[in-house]
Amino acid sequence: MQDISNSVRHYDVIVVGGGHAGCEAAAAAARLGANTLLLTGNLDFIGQMSCNPAIGGLAKGHLVREIDALDGLMGRITDAAGLQFRTLNASKGPAVRGPRAQADRKLYRQAMQAELWATPNLTIKQAEVTDVTLNATGRVQGVTTSSGWVFSAGSVVLTTGTFLRGLMHIGPTQITGGRAGEPAAVQLAEALKRHNFPLGRLKTGTPPRLDARTIDYSQLAEQPGDTPPLPFSFLNTAITQAQLPCHITTTTAETHAIIRANLHRAPMYSGQIEGTGPRYCPSIEDKVVRFAQKDGHQIFLEPEGYDTPEVYPNGISTSLPLDVQLALLKTIPGLENAEILRPGYAIEYDFVQPTALHHTLETKAIPGLYFAGQLNGTTGYEEAAAQGLMAGLNAALSVAGKAPLVLDRATAYIGVLIDDLVTKGTTEPYRMFTSRAEYRLLLRADNADLRLTPIGQAMGAVSSKRVAAFAQRQAQVAAIFALSHTTKVTPSSPFGQTVAKLAGGMAHTCTVFDVLKRPQIDLALATRFVPELAAMPAHAQEQLAVEAHYDGYLQRQQADAQRLRDDEALLIPGDVDYAIIGGLSHEVRQKLTQHRPPTLAAAGRISGITPAAVQAVWLHVRKHTAQPTAGREINGESFCGH
Ligand code: FAD
Repeated sequence: MQDISNSVRHYDVIVVGGGHAGCEAAAAAARLGANTLLLTGNLDFIGQMSCNPAIGGLAKGHLVREIDALDGLMGRITDAAGLQFRTLNASKGPAVRGPRAQADRKLYRQAMQAELWATPNLTIKQAEVTDVTLNATGRVQGVTTSSGWVFSAGSVVLTTGTFLRGLMHIGPTQITGGRAGEPAAVQLAEALKRHNFPLGRLKTGTPPRLDARTIDYSQLAEQPGDTPPLPFSFLNTAITQAQLPCHITTTTAETHAIIRANLHRAPMYSGQIEGTGPRYCPSIEDKVVRFAQKDGHQIFLEPEGYDTPEVYPNGISTSLPLDVQLALLKTIPGLENAEILRPGYAIEYDFVQPTALHHTLETKAIPGLYFAGQLNGTTGYEEAAAQGLMAGLNAALSVAGKAPLVLDRATAYIGVLIDDLVTKGTTEPYRMFTSRAEYRLLLRADNADLRLTPIGQAMGAVSSKRVAAFAQRQAQVAAIFALSHTTKVTPSSPFGQTVAKLAGGMAHTCTVFDVLKRPQIDLALATRFVPELAAMPAHAQEQLAVEAHYDGYLQRQQADAQRLRDDEALLIPGDVDYAIIGGLSHEVRQKLTQHRPPTLAAAGRISGITPAAVQAVWLHVRKHTAQPTAGREINGESFCGH
């Protein structure tokens, strides 16, 4: 009999799935020098945007900037493929501004594929993975595929998106598939069940795609992008490709009447769909039911690319039958004669409850196996990419025997995302919001590189090109802060007199930085009197303006962040027996035993765990393990460790 062991190719890291999580995971592992294999269902669909061809937006834009700061791909690929760039919430505070770009779907895929094919240490193959294999100790050993190919690896990252037992719905019609035109991953879903992972069922949906040549744009408002368009990547200074406008229309009372009359044919309402849908990205039938008092819902008509007539009508995701989709379009201004190029549909799929994961995204049950992306119950390309990046880095670090990378909630939205998932789990598709971040003034899209690139640099996950670009940006920021702290404004100077007039007085000489803290004084005014400020690059000016204006708040958030980090440093041993800790209710004991939080901070974030319970756990842990001796405060009470 032939010995097959020689025919099993070995890699350091295998990544399964070429979606947004998989691309980042594969590139990140390879960047760290791991010999990496990316296995995916169809090579042609690597980097495919399953739904809306847009990247970023509120909080999601922050994630993209953070991915970019760690040398991930999404920001750069979007810059190459973006056909409209806009900063959402531009008139609001810096913490909630969200960069967003509409991409050419085909260009995005092509740019992503070109990037991956050119990545050193990365091999890419087309195969359907059917199972993960384990060694005698229970650690992951590799994967099997439907074609009989077997691969072994030190770490495996699964990023299978909406494909696990994917089932698509168009009215009563049901089609198995991972998304339109691609097969579902059924065997792998069964394998994960056999490995005892806690699986659940979620749902998401997409609108019909329309033919631009049949849309009457003459009656619609145009929505242009920003001038000039602002790149996502910290490596890019300008977007050079042409920018296209979007258009806006709305549903009408007639549209809503048609939807109401056909609700019994909507899979969500007929009981045909079991999975929970995204609350913040509802289908049009959901909106009509939940917001019954509204006469109209906005629809953004977004071009899908430069050389295609396909249009994405953002706002009318639906799984209603095709005849209803056609009928409701006729009631929408500008779309009366619109032709559908692809029907809208909903998809149900299996996900793994992410409480089954460590903060590294390694599964608790199988060492060396990592999960990332929609598989973990999230929705959105950006959430998927952020997890993929972290899982890829940690998979490679694990193989190299190095310490893992975990970002805390005060360092990055990526930290908030992963901490929320693994600590609380999810019962509906999880998407990122700025409101999920406690330290959002610290975690701005504009300073993602200042927060994260040094971390990436220290672990060797950042290219020399980025190191050089970052050093330059950092020096420019340092220079403008030095200038603002050393340049004095006297009350008698023209600047001082202007400050006194606008801010109601100026008693003493102070620095430009102190002057900029006053709400009445902005940087544009300061540059009139201190021309050296105007000569500084725009990004450095932005840092100064924000840091000076929000100085007091930022200092408070820094202090809060330090308290969090102190609590993150208080480790809870994995084998602690919660049953013997006094003062805990039965329910609290159960929750702590189930979640096994790794730190005191993580314990406090589990829903239903009170500060008093956290205090009791800490007392117990301090008594039985060596921990830092610093005192701590819980809810304002001084709580010293002795
Ligand atoms: P995906 O992009 O799904 O990629 C999964 C990859 O894994 C694919 O390349 C696939 O070929 C591969 N794969 C799967 N199984 C196997 C296997 N066994 N072996 C090998 N390869 C495998 N997000 C939103 O934010 N808002 C929305 O409104 C929205 N609507 C959506 C509507 C639809 C119909 C779909 C399908 C998705 C929608 N999404 C939406 C979700 C969005 O597409 C995902 O969040 C994002 O693509 C997740 O990225 P991912 O990398 O986790 O998975």
